Amino acid sequence: MSEESSATRTAPCAICRKPVQLEATKKDERGRAVHEDCYWANLKRDALATPTEAAERLEP
Ligand SMILES: [Zn+2]
Repeated sequence: MSEESSATRTAPCAICRKPVQLEATKKDERGRAVHEDCYWANLKRDALATPTEAAERLEP
């Protein structure tokens, strides 16, 4: 009668480290299980952290 016997398998999210359902999850670039919200949040963070040439060209 343990939770591990459940049909739903979980793995720690690679981003927030909270349990995520493997059957309803996204995989990041390295194939690690992540929440969909975490996946998009991580993409946004990377986009914001990466300077774009277009932005630089807008500067005088
Ligand atoms: Zn997460």
